[in-house]
This record gives sequence, C-alpha cells and structure tokens, in this order.
Amino acid sequence: RGLWHPGLLAGRPDGEPGLLRNFVGGAFTGSAKTFTKSSPVTGEALFEVAEADAGTVDAAVDAARAALRGPWGRMGEQQRAAVLRRVADELERRFEDVVAAEIGDTGKSVTQARTLDVPRGAANFRAFADIAASTPTESFTTVTADGGRALNYAVRKPVGVVAVIVPWNLPLLLLTWKVAPALACGNTVVVKPSEETPSSATLLAEVMAAAGVPDGVFNLVHGFGPDSAGEFLTRHPGVDAITFTGESATGSAIGKVAADGVKAVSFELGGKNAGLVFADADLDAAVEGSVRSSFTNGGQVCLCTERLYVQRPVFEEFAQRLAERAGGLAFGWPSDEATGNIPLISRQHREKVLGHYRLAREEGATVLAGGGVPVFGDARDGGWYVQPTVLTGLGPQTRTNREEIFGPVCHIAPFDDEDEAFALANDSEYGLAATVWTRDVGRAHRAGAALDAGLVWVNTWFLRDLRTPFGGMKASGVGREGGVHSLDFYTELTNVCVQL
Ligand code: NAD
Repeated sequence: RGLWHPGLLAGRPDGEPGLLRNFVGGAFTGSAKTFTKSSPVTGEALFEVAEADAGTVDAAVDAARAALRGPWGRMGEQQRAAVLRRVADELERRFEDVVAAEIGDTGKSVTQARTLDVPRGAANFRAFADIAASTPTESFTTVTADGGRALNYAVRKPVGVVAVIVPWNLPLLLLTWKVAPALACGNTVVVKPSEETPSSATLLAEVMAAAGVPDGVFNLVHGFGPDSAGEFLTRHPGVDAITFTGESATGSAIGKVAADGVKAVSFELGGKNAGLVFADADLDAAVEGSVRSSFTNGGQVCLCTERLYVQRPVFEEFAQRLAERAGGLAFGWPSDEATGNIPLISRQHREKVLGHYRLAREEGATVLAGGGVPVFGDARDGGWYVQPTVLTGLGPQTRTNREEIFGPVCHIAPFDDEDEAFALANDSEYGLAATVWTRDVGRAHRAGAALDAGLVWVNTWFLRDLRTPFGGMKASGVGREGGVHSLDFYTELTNVCVQL
C-alpha cells in the first residue's frame, strides 16, 4: 500500500535504518533511549525514535544560543527572508517525501496531506518571510515642555531562543506556523514535535540544512512531555520564550513552569467549537460545510465543530442529511484519494473517544450515525479507526457538550432565535472558533461581534489568510499568532527616544 508506510525513512541520511534522530547544532544525534512509533492505520510498529535526554536538550539550547551570536543574528531581514524562501522551495522539492512522512505518522489521507498539510508548510515560510521583511515599526515625534522635539521609534529585536512544542494532528502545518515567524524575526529554535508524529519534523531538519539555514538555528529534540524532552525544554533556563499548541491542561502545566522562569508564552489550546445553522442558510452548503468542519482529519483539528445548533424549521432535515453524509464517508486506505475517514492517532486516543461515545449514550443521547468501530476484515482492524458519529438529544450542561472529544463526532441541538443561538454558542469554557451559516448579512456581522471566539467563519470553515490574527479566548489560548501578531510575539520592541 506504498504511500502510507514511511519506508522512505529507512536508511536515509537522517538516521540509521528505522531510527529517527534528534538534530542539534546542524548534526543528527542518537540517544541512549528510544521509543517505538506505530502506525495508526494497522497498529504495527513502524520505526524507533531517539528520545532526547536532559543532556541532549541542554546541547540543543546551547547550540541555539550560539547560533544567535553567529551569522543568523547578524543577517538583515531581507537576507533571512531569502533563506526562508529557499526552505519553502526545498520543502516543495521534497514534497512527496513529506506527504509520505505525514501519512505514515498519522494515517491521514493522501488528498489532505497533498492539498493542506504540506502546501501550508511551504506557505508558512513564504508568508512570514514577506511579513517580517515588510512590516514597519511605529515612530512618533514628541513636543517637549520647552517647545523642543524628540523622536521616538521602535526597533524589533529577536526574543532569543524559542522553544516550539506542537501536537500531532497537523504536524508540519502547526510546526511551521511557529518556526517560520520565529526564524523570520531572527530567533533560533528548539522544536519538540509530538511523540506521535516525529517524521515530518525530522525531514524539516534535513530541509533546513539543504536550504542553507546555519547550524544551530533549527534544533530538534524528540520525546514526550512530563519528565522528558518537553519538560526539560520548558524548564530550561536558556529558553527565552515558549510557543505551544496542544491541550488546555498541558498549556496550564507549561504556563506554571514558564511563570517560574518569567518566560513569554503563546498558547494555542483546545476548543469545543460551535456551528450555527440558521433557517435562512443555503442548506446544501451548511450540510457540506458541517461535514468538513466536524469530520476533517477524523475530527482531530482544534477548529472542528463538535456542537452544532440548528434553527428549528430546518433542524430535522439538517440532522437527517448530516447523519446520512457521516454514514456515507468512505473508509479507504490513506492512499485512496476518496478516503473520507482517517484513523485516530493512537490506541490511547481511541479509548478516550470511544469513552465519549459510551458517555453520550449514558447521558441519554440519540445516536443518528456511527457510535462504534468499523470492521474491515483486513490489516486496518489492528488500527485506531472509529465511526464518524452524529448525536442529538442532549442539553448544554452534559459532558458530551462541554468537553473536547477531538474525534469525528458532533452533537446537534435545535434553537429558536438568534439571541438563543449566540448564547448557546458562548456557553462554553472554550473560545477558539465558531462557524455561522446564514444568508442574512446583518446577522453575519452581529455574529462576529457577539460570539466569544477568536475566529468566526461565516458560510465557510477553516479558510485561512496567514496575515490574520489566529488564536483563542478563554481556555482556548493566550495571545494571537498570524501576520503582525506573530511578529509581536517573536520579537522584543525597544523604543528609542532621541532628544532632537
Ligand atoms: P498535548 O497537550 O497532549 O501535547 C502537545 C505537545 O505537548 C506534545 O508535543 C507533547 O509531547 C507536549 N507535552 C505534553 N505535556 C507536556 C509538558 N508537561 N511539558 C512540555 N511539553 C508537554 O496535545 P495533543 O494531544 O498532542 O494535541 C491535541 C490538542 O491540541 C487538542 O486539545 C487540540 O484542540 C489542541 N490543538 C490546538 C490548536 C490551536 O491552534 N488552538 C491546534 C491544534 C491542536
């Protein structure tokens, strides 16, 4: 089945056959301890990964610190931008390798890897090369008490060594979303990808070297969170800032550590996103959009819609059509272009999602589609698939409607008017994204103002412009990245005041 198996990593220059290594100061390094990465598609062991110990993390932070003082720190913005454009070019040259790495680690579909994950990886480098090289800083002329003048202007400086910690759901996309602006601003990085998805980050290390990124600017450590590479990195006194994407509980744990070291943090965390379907919506578009927003990537996107609220006149029809579409999504192999379902990332995550399917029934849900595990009669029965699931019948206070499940599942409930819809959407500890389906242009703008979410999409979902602010409110995050907001996090501003 070729594509989904990362055979490409065996015997490559980045490691011994079957071993992915850390990348420190421009060289791949092994480690005394390794862990096994298994395929979500079949459950079989794929390869070993070198787990960075505290000494390796120290060496990575030291290399990053040294590189700040080297040619990278002395380059102008335009020169760095040129290097980052070469990184994008090199990623595109290695396109099919990276696609295979993403598929091998996650079991996601080749169509998604080719149209979303890997192109966005390259786009992130080009976008932040442009943004960093073209964004001005502010300047004010001040009149002093004696009638004189002073000139104030701000200078952007790199923050220093940035720790980048990312999850497994969109591995390359989320990693490069942070690495690209961090490097564009002149920082150096130590990245820790998820233990579930070490491959594309390892390929990115090769890409960096081939594109001429100086040694020590991009360092990679593999491992887990607590008492492993993640914790060693966030506790490290040589790290100046931490940018993290992952669960809210992990963000909270990292926030405590960061507070001890008074380190800047940027957190992109979990969600329990609402979708609102009004009776005036184009229902075909709302159904198809909701299929995407609930089931893309097996529901394993922080932006996915797990709570759908539908205006009563169209509730029955919408629920029935969404359930039919969910039940009809194809369970192909990752290499089948029409695959609509992908496996969950791990056995542990599948147990969590199936636990939620059971809980929903215990809470009294009606299951309109799915609710279980598909049976294939082939090697995929050893993998981590679940059925896409549509639920209804539960109130807003149930755990099903409050906790992030992070699987291919949504609950649909009716509402009567706009105020009720906005109140239901906002009734959540989270505040990442909301999606609104309506033809009423006034309502669309009212939704943007009324909804407690960092992102509000109207008649679409996950349509991104990399210049726009991205992030969440409440338990969904701290700060914004994207465009100039990334520059604000990845730089320190010094105001220079000159008496004229
Ligand atoms: P996770 O929090 O378990 O892990 C994320 C990363 O943090 C991994 O690399 C992990 O090894 C590391 N980590 C875990 N504990 C740590 C610790 N104590 N110290 C340092 N590092 C630690 O998240 P996950 O299960 O990999 O990802 C799924 C979660 O990510 C979901 O909650 C999802 O909503 C969220 N997410 C958010 C966004 C966003 O932009 N807001 C995007 C994607 C995913």
